[in-house]
Amino acid sequence: MQFRDLQKQYQILKPQMAPAIQQVLTTGNFISGSQVTELEEQLSAYVGTKHCITCGNGTDALTLALMVWNIGPGDAVFVPDFTFFASGETPAYEGAVPIFVDVEEDTFNMSPSSLEEAILQVKGEGKLTPRVIVAVDLFGQPADYPEIRQIAEKYNLFILEDGAQGFGGRIGARRACSFGDISTTSFFPAKPLGCYGDGGAIFTDNDEWAALLRSYRIHGKGADKYDNVRIGMNSRLDTLQAAVLQVKLKAFDEYELTDVNKVAHRYTEGLREVVKAPIVREGFYSSWAQYSILLKDKEERDRLQAYLKEKGIPTMVYYPRPMSMQGAFAGLDCVKVELPVTADLCRRVLALPMHPYLTAEEQEEVIREIKAYVH
Ligand SMILES: *Cc1c(COP(=O)(O)O)cnc(C)c1O
Repeated sequence: MQFRDLQKQYQILKPQMAPAIQQVLTTGNFISGSQVTELEEQLSAYVGTKHCITCGNGTDALTLALMVWNIGPGDAVFVPDFTFFASGETPAYEGAVPIFVDVEEDTFNMSPSSLEEAILQVKGEGKLTPRVIVAVDLFGQPADYPEIRQIAEKYNLFILEDGAQGFGGRIGARRACSFGDISTTSFFPAKPLGCYGDGGAIFTDNDEWAALLRSYRIHGKGADKYDNVRIGMNSRLDTLQAAVLQVKLKAFDEYELTDVNKVAHRYTEGLREVVKAPIVREGFYSSWAQYSILLKDKEERDRLQAYLKEKGIPTMVYYPRPMSMQGAFAGLDCVKVELPVTADLCRRVLALPMHPYLTAEEQEEVIREIKAYVH
């Protein structure tokens, strides 16, 4: 059994994938080919934003957004303590201070009350200027944007939606990657919509920011790429990856997203009596980047993981350590107290095999073994 079965997906998509890749090889437009602009149009239509700007990866996407807002030394950027490193790494790379905020146990996402507390604390200290809230759509479920938006407006902060794991999720009819003032995603192969290497995208409705993003991603270009009007970077999506994503987006839209939700439903039905199954809020829809259960404590989690490994069932721990406890942030002025919900989740969380091509038989096996272990 595979944790995320990309080979199986490839076997199914092969008839469409082969000609899409062949087309790029034949035309030879490996950088900025027509597939890139076509894909950007398809992605912005899917998400429901005016602009989509593709780039090299999800980390660059976050960096480019922070560059547009001129985030740097003296600025505070609020980041959930329970997320992938890049969410906090990118503001720190720009010279800003990431301020870590606790999350909610039921959704794993940023806690609005902890966010407001952190903002007030930073304002009270008066050393840093609060600028941005990085809201992460962890494991596929959108963050609590209705609440977070109110806080952003109250304190005049930008929302940067880190939708690296959230592409395809929704709140009501509105799709993930449209909730931020700028939103980003990643096409790393294991994300809900992944390519065959690195890739990322940025979404916004703001024309001025979109123009800046298009410039920053290609060496701060002006009228053309040999007219450089600002310091930028080189972060483009390869034409080959755009061609791959066009095929994958179609499958994602037509059946993968629905299928992965069926898989989640089957897990929850089978497991909710024995472990704490993940919860999707009323009115929210997840793209299930991960299906993470909670065990009683670290000992039970680690023993279950070892037991499942013995049975040939791969699992992962996302994330074993709070961001605020990462050595890389030790020298920064981030929150240094342990945030209780995050610390607890790090000890108890376990992600099960999860992808749209997981069969009912494979799931039965996972559920049976977890039940056997718990009993
Ligand atoms: C994967 C991920 C990123 C970074 O994406 P890359 O494409 O790997 O650079 C950023 N934030 C979160 C929450 C992620 O899961």
